[in-house]
Amino acid sequence: MILSGKALAAEIEEGLKKRVEKLGFSPGLDIVMVGDDPASRTYVEKKLNKAGDIGIKGRLHHLTESTTEEELLTLISKLNADKSVHGFIVQMPLPKQIDSLKIISAIDPRKDADGLHPLNLGRLAQGSKTIASATPKGIMRMIDYYKIPLAGMEAVVVGRSNMVGKPISYLLTNRDATVTLCHSKTKNLAEHTRRADLLVVAVGSPYLIKADMVKEGAHIIDVGTTKLAGKTVGDVDFDPVSRKASVTPVPGGVGPLTVIMLMENLVELAERAKAEPQPEPPPSRRRRKQG
Ligand code: NAP
Repeated sequence: MILSGKALAAEIEEGLKKRVEKLGFSPGLDIVMVGDDPASRTYVEKKLNKAGDIGIKGRLHHLTESTTEEELLTLISKLNADKSVHGFIVQMPLPKQIDSLKIISAIDPRKDADGLHPLNLGRLAQGSKTIASATPKGIMRMIDYYKIPLAGMEAVVVGRSNMVGKPISYLLTNRDATVTLCHSKTKNLAEHTRRADLLVVAVGSPYLIKADMVKEGAHIIDVGTTKLAGKTVGDVDFDPVSRKASVTPVPGGVGPLTVIMLMENLVELAERAKAEPQPEPPPSRRRRKQG
């Protein structure tokens, strides 16, 4: 079976349009992009287009490759303080002169549309309600859409990034799967992947997972995307693997869900901001009225 993400993403999109209408204003999603990485450019365009489709006001801050950490932190402070911005993301990867963890930690957790701030990631690990990182959140939606029963299931995650591998391992653990987290230092990867009833692969290594590495009848979520000879390919050797297991295609699997989950996070942040407006600063910090 092919585990497509397109129909589910379209269904979620319709729901989000209604939630935006109910808000009564266009929520603002700002995207900060540093440098000119072609893959990042494509992702950012997709996010801005989808925001427009839903009635979200998307705005791009495109900074040059030579931007300093201090300059980026200054922009983040501005976005944190701007009431028209309900949420924002800093597109990864960042140039090497910038410490991405420092940048993510500077984002106000109430505007953290990517769910990457330590507070949000920590809440996710605890199993508390929070803004979850878009890709893992989309994977969980897909698992529920295809009614994959997680409790007691042997789940193997390959890749341990803060954006995908770690948060999906927390979400699966919170839903009672038995989770193994693999990475580049894992010995005999195939021994682990062959045990998996559910296999999530987020590496960025084309066709890493071959048919002899998966269990008959397993469910496989391929997060990887790599441009190869002008085509976007995943981490799973799709044709042979799909003959023995259910697999997400690349493109058309996890990708559309990642984009729509970012939009859902933004709508949720805007709903929260509307329900709990930020208190005015204390009088000493307010500017005195003239005259
Ligand atoms: P990342 O930060 O690049 O990390 C890759 C992970 O893979 C690391 O944990 C690394 O291990 C592990 N790894 C590398 N080679 C390995 C091997 N041979 N065997 C086992 N593990 C190995 O990862 P990411 O940001 O999560 O991205 C992963 C992929 O998903 C990329 O292709 C990215 O473009 C794609 N992605 C797609 C979407 C989407 O919406 N479709 C969203 C996000 C990411 P170490 O930790 O030991 O180095």
